[in-house]
Amino acid sequence: MLGKILAVDDIPDNLRVIAGFLLQAGYDVRPVTSGREALQVVAVDPPDLVLLDIRMPEMDGFAVCARLKADPATANIPIVFLSASGDLADKLQAFEAGGADYIEKPFQEREVLARVELQLRLRRAQREVAEARDVLEAKVAERTQDLAKLAYFDTLTGLPNRKKFSEDMDRMLADPAVSGFALLLLDLDRFKSINDALGHDVGDELLKQLAGRLLTVLDGRPGFVARLGGDEFAVCVEGGDTREAEHLAELILGNLESPFALENMRIEMGCSVGIAIYPRDGDRSGELLRCADVAMYVAKQTMSRYSSYAAQQDTNSTSRLALLSQFADAVAANHLVLHYQPKIHIASGKATGVEALVRWQHPRRGLLPPGEFLPQIELTDMIRRLTHWVVETAAAQIDDWLRQGLPVPVAINLSARNLVEEDLPDWIAQVLRARGIPPHLLEVEITETAMMVAPDRSLAVLGRIADLGVRLAVDDFGTGYSSFALLRRLPKGIALKIDRSFVERIVEDPADEAIVASIIHLAHGLSARAIAEGIEKADVLARLGSLGCQEAQGYLIARPMPEPAARSWLIEHGGGDASPGKVT
Ligand code: C2E
Ligand code: MG
Ligand code: MG
Repeated sequence: MLGKILAVDDIPDNLRVIAGFLLQAGYDVRPVTSGREALQVVAVDPPDLVLLDIRMPEMDGFAVCARLKADPATANIPIVFLSASGDLADKLQAFEAGGADYIEKPFQEREVLARVELQLRLRRAQREVAEARDVLEAKVAERTQDLAKLAYFDTLTGLPNRKKFSEDMDRMLADPAVSGFALLLLDLDRFKSINDALGHDVGDELLKQLAGRLLTVLDGRPGFVARLGGDEFAVCVEGGDTREAEHLAELILGNLESPFALENMRIEMGCSVGIAIYPRDGDRSGELLRCADVAMYVAKQTMSRYSSYAAQQDTNSTSRLALLSQFADAVAANHLVLHYQPKIHIASGKATGVEALVRWQHPRRGLLPPGEFLPQIELTDMIRRLTHWVVETAAAQIDDWLRQGLPVPVAINLSARNLVEEDLPDWIAQVLRARGIPPHLLEVEITETAMMVAPDRSLAVLGRIADLGVRLAVDDFGTGYSSFALLRRLPKGIALKIDRSFVERIVEDPADEAIVASIIHLAHGLSARAIAEGIEKADVLARLGSLGCQEAQGYLIARPMPEPAARSWLIEHGGGDASPGKVT
C-alpha cells in the first residue's frame, strides 16, 4: 500500500470523487464526513496524511487541525486542506494553522495525486531523518558514556581513577548521613624494580591482580577502591575510627603477603599504607589525600608498613619544605662549605688525597653535617645544583692548591640521581678544562647502593667520567648489592672504599676480618685500589696494613677539616699526592 489517507468532507459527493482518485492510484483511503469522526479515527488508527475540508458544520477544518497539532502523537501528520477556489483568507489561515498544503475544489485528479504524493514523500523523508537522528543520538550517548568511562576509570585495572575517587570522596563529604570515613593510601614497595626487571606486561598483570585483591578485601564494606596512578592505590571506607582503619590496613597487607602468580613466577609484593581520617584530619578531599600521603611517607621511612596521620608528622613535612627552600637560598648565598678529610697511604703514612664533604653553614642552626639535609635534597632536583656547586668548588680548591705547589687529588661524592644526568660527564670536563686542571686530580665517589639504582645508566655515565681521566671510587663498598657481573664491568683503575661497618671490628671479629681480607683481595684482582674507611683505632689500621690494604681514611688519621687546616695537614704529610703508584 502506498499510504494510508484519511479524507474528511461533510459533502458525500466530494468524498466519493476524491476517494475514487486515491483508491484507483493505490492508496488506502478512509472517508469520514465530520471533524469529530475524523478525530476518533486518528486516535485509533493514525493515517499518514489527512485531507481536511475547511467548511464543515459543528467542527470546521481549522478546529480539527488545531486539535491534531496540539497532540504530540498526531502533530506530525501532514494535513492538506480542501476548500472552495479563490478564497485567499482561507488559504492563509490554512497555512497559519499548520496545514502542509491546500487543494482547491473542484478537484483535479492529477493535482490531488501530485500533492498527496509530495506530502507523503516529505513525510517519509522526515521519518527517515528522525530515525537517523535517533540512531546518531544513541551512538553519541554511547560514546559519551565511553568517554566518561575513560575520564573516570583506569583502563588497566578498571578501577576508578584519581579524579573519580576525589569526586566520590567529595560526595561523601557533602552527605550529611556520612559522619566519618577513613582514607587509606597504598604505595607498592619496589614496584619499579619489578617493572624494570620483568617487563611492563608483568608489571601490568601485577597491578591488575592487586586491584582484584583490594576489591576482595573491601567486599561488603561500604566504601570504594581506586588506582590513583602508577603503583598508588586508595581505599575509602565509611566509619571514622582509627583502629578500624588500621585493622583494614592489616587485612590488606595480610592479603598482599601471599605471593602473586605471574608468568610461572611467584612474586612477593610489599606495600606501605598511609591512613587519614575524616573528620579528624580534615574536611576536604585534597587535604585528606595530602594527610594520607604524609602518613604513607612516614610508613615507608620507618618501615612500619602502615601509619596513621598525626598532626605532628605534618610539621615534619612542612619543615621539609622549609628546608628545601632555605637550601636553595643557601646555595645562592654561598652558605655551603666543603671540609676535606685526608686519606693516607698506609705503608708510608703519607697523604694520598682528600675527600670533599659538604657542610651547610646555617645562619641559625650552625654547621650542619650532610646527614641533616642531604637525604631530603637527594629526593629533589636540588641535588643537581648541589653537585654542580661541589664540583665547581672542589675544582677551585684543586686549582688553588696546585698554585701553591700542592697537587692534591680531591674526591667528591655523587648521588644516585646524578648518575642519570647524561650531561654530567661533559659538565665535569668543562669545569676541568676551564681551570686547566689535570683530570687525575679529581676523583668521583659513588656509593654502591646508588650505582645499583640503575646499573646500566650508571655504568655508562661512570665510564664516560673515567674516559676523561677522572678517577673513580665505589663508596661504602659492601653495604650495597652489587654483583660480581657488575664489578667486572666497572671502569679500570677504580677504587673500592670498604665501608666502616666492616672495618671497625676486624681486630675482634674474625668474620669481619675475613670479609675485609677478601674485599682487598678482590680489589687487587680487579686492579682496583682498596681504601678502608672510618678508621678510629690504631690496631685496626695496623691490621689493615698487614691484610694488604693500601689506603686508609678515618678519624684516627684526620677528621674532615676546613681550609686552611687541611692544607697545613697536607704539607705535614708529604704534600698530598702520595698515590700508591708513586710511593713504593
Ligand atoms: P661518605 O662519602 O662515606 O663519607 C664518609 C663519612 O664518614 C663522612 O661523614 C665522614 O665525616 C665520616 N667519617 C670519616 N671517618 C670516620 C670515622 O673514623 N668514624 C666515623 N664514625 N665517621 C667517619 P659526613 O661528612 O657526615 O658525610 C656523610 C655522607 O654524606 C658521606 O658519606 C657522603 O655519602 C655524603 N656526602 C657528603 N658530602 C657530599 C656531597 O658533596 N655530595 C653528595 N652527593 N654526598 C655527600
Ligand atoms: Mg665518600
Ligand atoms: Mg663512605
